[in-house]
Amino acid sequence: MHSAAPATGAFGSERDLGRRALDTARTRGASYADVRFVRREVEDAQVKNGALENVDRVDSLGFGVRAIADGAWGFAASPVVTGAEADRVAALAVEVARASALTKRDAARLAPVQPVTATWRSPVAKDPFAMSFDDRLALLLRADAAMRAQQPKLRTTRAAYEIWRESKLFLSSEGADIAQTITETGCSISAESVGDGEQQVRSYPASGGRSQGQFGWEFAERWDLVGNAPRIADEAMALLTATPCPQDLRTTVILSGNQTMLQVHESCGHPIELDRALGTEAAFAGTSFLTPDTLGSLRYGSEAVSMRIDSTTPGGLGTFAYDDEGVPASEGWAVKDGLFVGYLMSRETAAALGKASNGTMRADGWARLPLIRMTNVSLMPGAAGTLADLVADTDEGIYMDTNRSWSIDDRRFNFQFGTQIGWLIKGGKLTEMVRNPTYTGITPEFWGSCDAVCSDSEWFIWGTPNCGKGQPSQVGHTGHGAAPARFRNVRVGVIRA
Ligand SMILES: [Zn+2]
Repeated sequence: MHSAAPATGAFGSERDLGRRALDTARTRGASYADVRFVRREVEDAQVKNGALENVDRVDSLGFGVRAIADGAWGFAASPVVTGAEADRVAALAVEVARASALTKRDAARLAPVQPVTATWRSPVAKDPFAMSFDDRLALLLRADAAMRAQQPKLRTTRAAYEIWRESKLFLSSEGADIAQTITETGCSISAESVGDGEQQVRSYPASGGRSQGQFGWEFAERWDLVGNAPRIADEAMALLTATPCPQDLRTTVILSGNQTMLQVHESCGHPIELDRALGTEAAFAGTSFLTPDTLGSLRYGSEAVSMRIDSTTPGGLGTFAYDDEGVPASEGWAVKDGLFVGYLMSRETAAALGKASNGTMRADGWARLPLIRMTNVSLMPGAAGTLADLVADTDEGIYMDTNRSWSIDDRRFNFQFGTQIGWLIKGGKLTEMVRNPTYTGITPEFWGSCDAVCSDSEWFIWGTPNCGKGQPSQVGHTGHGAAPARFRNVRVGVIRA
């Protein structure tokens, strides 16, 4: 990171080039065009077993032009930011659109949006790009050392962070001019133990990948990685000799917030992507059981289950002022009191349903087309109090914490999840630790069995920086507010036929 990101609205020459590209696209016959300039700076660092394992730094700048010609889409992109290249890329996008038009089924139609001029910058208390590398690294080294000091027999300890900044300028042939700068920070620690034919892992604050938020370095500091390191180390070692989780039974399950978050991502966030539901994004991502005929009528969960689509949630990885089509951030319901009521939409898919877009189109950098991506899809808090209150209210069951594995079918209907650790619940108390807990379910039946969600004090906007979708594959950053939640009559363990 040798140079600072441009200040919001600081795109100068790029704006002129963008207007030139839009002019070229129009001249070549585009009925609509937009251009996005994106500068992305990322640094990933990882400490393993007490030493710096690797540092990756990326600083990329480029632009992409999207155009509709003869009713079909074309796209082209380039890292060469010059006037001649703006002309070439814009002309190529139109040419691709004309070629695509030969095989199109229906002409592209866009739901209307009011074009605006705007700038926006996500709030940052402590700019991670302004710190020294040594100061960032010191946190990882201390957290890693604290795990090894607590449990010297751990096979592997890891500590990692990512700092991420994207500045983008969006211009459209309809007149939009939107500059945004988004900063994220992510972090994690993990401990791996091996023995007696078992391999166990514990990670914090979330599963394998990072926990990430739309914050500065204050996000890495809020988790107290060093203070939690001894507990994570102890749990990783204790799992080696813990009792295996009971198998092949139905019981009550309480999921931690970081597991509920992933459950929301996989079983609600993906199936409400309208491109999937319309069958236009089957490649890579799959389809959805939430087909348009079920909108407003399908009972997705119990009355305790309400899920928001909200791109305004402070700190969420799906928070912005405008999406990559220039549609403003919005708040709405995906599931209201258990009923399925809303999709994640683009301008084109919204038009297919006769609706306005709720602004969920985002691209992975300048070289890719925007796709419908989860913004912040969140399970709303309930009234069950703290996690301790919820456990105290549960006679018998299993508490499961932090994802270890998952699988879910293409339609997002049948799933199996495993968590890193669990505890039996007896008489309103967490008792024995159990290893390798797993549960299976059918999405509407599972959410239909949710009878309690913890209150606001337990609710947190988790961030997943590794959501895959599309061909060629794109990595998306999505946010999921969640609190611990209780599910009744859940199938636990490997089900014997
Ligand atoms: Zn995903």
